[in-house]
Amino acid sequence: MEEHKIVMVGNGGVGKSAMTVRFVQDVFVTEYDPTIEDYYHKVITIDEKECGVEVLDTPSHLEFSSMWDCIYRSGDGFLIVYSITDRSSFEQVTNYYDKIILRKDVNDGEVPIIIVGNKCDLEIEREVSYQEGHDLAQRILCKFIETSALTKQNLEEVFYAIARETKNLKRYYFK
Ligand code: GDP
Ligand code: MG
Repeated sequence: MEEHKIVMVGNGGVGKSAMTVRFVQDVFVTEYDPTIEDYYHKVITIDEKECGVEVLDTPSHLEFSSMWDCIYRSGDGFLIVYSITDRSSFEQVTNYYDKIILRKDVNDGEVPIIIVGNKCDLEIEREVSYQEGHDLAQRILCKFIETSALTKQNLEEVFYAIARETKNLKRYYFK
């Protein structure tokens, strides 16, 4: 069975753990230890074929920055998550993007990355418009999607989309 390694990155509190646990276990968590780095695994079906998706939920801080090298290098595909209710998390998106490109030593567009605006159920607390997220993603040649780990809006879709991009890229290089 094909395996795809997906890495969750983004500022603390944007919902990386909530999205991961919601996708893999279908539970919404309100309190999740921000220091835990953890792997989750789920089998999904793409184009009538089963494949494994391993999701690495990264913590806010790591003791050694060299650990990030390892994390970034190990990922096949990345979800860069910000919260639509937190502008500072949005402002960090390009920073994460640059780190991925640098550490994986690839050019723009050569690694599957989706920009994710999470917490889209919190419309009254919105600080970042859909258009802003969309425009940023377009500038750096990534897909863009808004999700909610609470209501599950676009939640499965975003994991399927990144798994599909990863699968297609592997097909392209290893055919
Ligand atoms: P992480 O630091 O990125 O892993 O963020 P967490 O997953 O720990 O989430 C931080 C807080 O935001 C928690 O209280 C979550 O329950 C909450 N949260 C995460 N995703 C959503 C969402 O889509 N909607 C709402 N309303 N709250 C969310
Ligand atoms: Mg977390």
